Amino acid sequence: MKLALGVDLGGTNARAALVDPTSGAVVAAHRLAHTDRTPAVVVASIATAVREAARAAGVEPGALASAGVGVAGQCLGATGTVINAPNLGWRDVPLGETLRAALGLEVRVVNDLSAAAWGERRFGAARGVDDVVLVFVGSGIGSGLILGARLHEGGRGVAGELGHIKVAPRGAVPRRCGCGEWGCLEAYAGGMNLAARLREEAAEGKAGAVLAAVGGDAAKLSASAVEAAYAAGDPYAQELWAEVGELIGTACANLVTLLNPLRLVLGGGVLLGCANLERIVRAHLADRVLRAARRDFEVRRAELGDDAGVVGAALLGVDHHAHAR
Ligand SMILES: [Zn+2]
Repeated sequence: MKLALGVDLGGTNARAALVDPTSGAVVAAHRLAHTDRTPAVVVASIATAVREAARAAGVEPGALASAGVGVAGQCLGATGTVINAPNLGWRDVPLGETLRAALGLEVRVVNDLSAAAWGERRFGAARGVDDVVLVFVGSGIGSGLILGARLHEGGRGVAGELGHIKVAPRGAVPRRCGCGEWGCLEAYAGGMNLAARLREEAAEGKAGAVLAAVGGDAAKLSASAVEAAYAAGDPYAQELWAEVGELIGTACANLVTLLNPLRLVLGGGVLLGCANLERIVRAHLADRVLRAARRDFEVRRAELGDDAGVVGAALLGVDHHAHAR
């Protein structure tokens, strides 16, 4: 069996991996940080990472079976165009076409969480389950949807953008999201926007214990600092986690009520790195999923870590290649 190429393209780096499609094993991988986020530079950097991974695995890049790329952004389905990738600063970038020319391989472009969902379903926390929702809360928020054993990308490829459902509660401070819109879930509960809010509120003198948890250095404020202050009994951190946990937990519960998956896979550094936040999210899930949708439903933590995205992208590339023939 030929190895398949999977690439995980995020806002700060790209990771290329050669994956054995029958076992899901990552045979070799190479990660490169972006020196510059312009599309041509990023594509050249991906091509370098692919060559390095191929060299480590002892294969020629041209001998790879197929390629899939998971991008932290909104992708226009099969065309391979990235419509909006806030962390890369990209709008309407023809990534699939450019990468195909750089790698000499057919390339399937998908949202990074669609790729992660596919990887977790094949080899991770949702093995063998046909209806799966994966929700990641890290610097941003997103989801991947597998319905009836198929990846659900929607009419134009942008289904699953859980981070951009509008949730601004009545009376809340209006917050702008990285996507350019206002009031998105991610604007209130994504790690990057949470850090911005912490800096604002620390400057107003509200987040004293959270600021103390990072030695008074506002540049280091993050979800993990809130978690530390929460664990020490700080009322500000408790109030903030109650608000953020309710927003995330309710959004997840509504997604489960709407789609009736049998497995919800939770992942991402903010959710899996903050035990108290995860507990609050799970409590809202237990309370708010429609009773009829709770039968045989389970919540699990993601199991593949960083590999979910590259493994899923590689497998989706293989399937795409098979169908294209
Ligand atoms: Zn948004």
